[in-house]
Amino acid sequence: MRPLIDYNRCEGKAACVAVCPTQVFDLRQLTAAERGPLTLAGRLRGFLHGGPQAWVTRPEACKGCARCVAECPESAIRLVP
Ligand code: SF4
Repeated sequence: MRPLIDYNRCEGKAACVAVCPTQVFDLRQLTAAERGPLTLAGRLRGFLHGGPQAWVTRPEACKGCARCVAECPESAIRLVP
C-alpha cells in the first residue's frame, strides 16, 4: 500500500508528517504544473493557505497502518495498492 494525497483537499497541516512512523511524507510547495490539474476550488484553497502541501517522498516505506488516513484533518489521504 501507499498513500495517495488529494491536493484539492490538502492544506499542509502536517498531521501525516507527524504521525507516520516511517517518515513517508514531507512538505513542499507544489509546482505550477502540479497545480494545473486541480479543481478551481482546489487551486483557490492552495492560494489562500499559501503554504507547502504534503508530499509522498518515500512510498516504499509505507507499512499500510492508515494512521495518516485517520489523522488528516482534511480527509485528503487514502491508501492505494
Ligand atoms: S499508512 Fe502508515 S506507514 Fe503508510 S504513509 Fe500512512 S502513516 Fe505512514
